[in-house]
Amino acid sequence: MPKKTVEDIEVTGKKVLLRVDFNVPLDTNTGDISDDSRIQASLPTIKYLVDHKAKIILCSHLGRPGGKVVENLRMAPIAQRLSKLMGLPVSTASDCIGQEVENKVEALKEGDILVLENLRFHPEEEANDDGFARKLAKLAEIYVNDAFGSAHRTHASTVGVAKYLPAAAGFLMNKELKVMEKLLHNPERPSACLIGGAKVSDKIELLQNMLKKVDILLVGGGMAATFLKTQGYEVGRSLIEDDKLGLARKLLQEAREWGVPFLLPIDVVVVEEIRVGAPTRVVPTTTIPSDSHIVDIGPQSIELFYSELKKCRTIIWNGPMGIYEIPQFAQGTRSIASFLSTLNATTVIGGGSSAEIVQEMGLTDKMTHVSTGGGASLRFLEGVTLPGVRVLLDK
Ligand code: ADP
Ligand code: MG
Repeated sequence: MPKKTVEDIEVTGKKVLLRVDFNVPLDTNTGDISDDSRIQASLPTIKYLVDHKAKIILCSHLGRPGGKVVENLRMAPIAQRLSKLMGLPVSTASDCIGQEVENKVEALKEGDILVLENLRFHPEEEANDDGFARKLAKLAEIYVNDAFGSAHRTHASTVGVAKYLPAAAGFLMNKELKVMEKLLHNPERPSACLIGGAKVSDKIELLQNMLKKVDILLVGGGMAATFLKTQGYEVGRSLIEDDKLGLARKLLQEAREWGVPFLLPIDVVVVEEIRVGAPTRVVPTTTIPSDSHIVDIGPQSIELFYSELKKCRTIIWNGPMGIYEIPQFAQGTRSIASFLSTLNATTVIGGGSSAEIVQEMGLTDKMTHVSTGGGASLRFLEGVTLPGVRVLLDK
């Protein structure tokens, strides 16, 4: 069911509580914002509210303060960056609820922007405490959620407040939902789902749901080892989840029953020791030495994946093909990212690491959509209705 967006409600002159995901990465040494794309992603909603003369009360979490005040996780630097990006003054408050905040809200004029302090300085935020949600809601007349990246969390600012205010989606939230819904319900076909990452256990539900939605599944990354092992291959000392072998076998079986090809790597890059500078070898998956670790997919697998992916009109990619943090083991992941960027197909990137790689390689604009929510997009593709989406008003 489509959700109301900020365009479907009258915001002029109204106090609008806008939940954004300004949980930006901070430089560990200087504390500076190292990437402001999460702020940029919500600019269209903020601009719309400014143009329509709303009184804007922004709220977000930042980092993991664990329910208490942590000085270097204050929102002030983020408000400053927002001010710079908007070319407008942005004020801040020293808390997100309470008298001082209420006074500041009362002083807001049409088009003004106030950034509340880090929501997670209060343990009640993550506990979805009703009293806290009510205090947040008391600040405003309308609630808009643009924080797709937090929509899988049942927190006071993502779920609780919606009980007390008319709730609508911001433009970023709406765009994410539209793209993901199309992927699940009517993708242009043939469609493929390419999955990687460390563990099978993180992606079982994703695989289970997607195998009924797509025309082909391709699996690389650490989790491929568990699947290879169920097929009787030696996988050496690779990351294996022994307790997931049964499930992996069942997934392969289900894919066969649905008539969906389930491709695994045919060759892999192995090392004896996972470290920078370790000598690497490429071996077919049929002859993986018993003393080695799989760290990437091999060149023949890359070619195989290319040849399948290029037949597809829609491709969903979630999770790196190898331990990409070590440049020597990043070839598979980087090649796939480059290849996807050249295709004339719908390409959607979900997953924190995969999005980070695409961003770092400067390929974001060459993909159809790079999700701003790793965990949220994963849950969405698992077929879960996100709690932060469920509470928004239906259109
Ligand atoms: P995403 O964030 O894109 O969803 P995941 O969080 O599932 O991806 O997985 C990312 C992690 O998977 C990375 O830290 C990467 O090092 C790890 N990984 C990928 N391939 C392997 C492998 N062969 N062995 C061990 N870890 C791997
Ligand atoms: Mg991740």
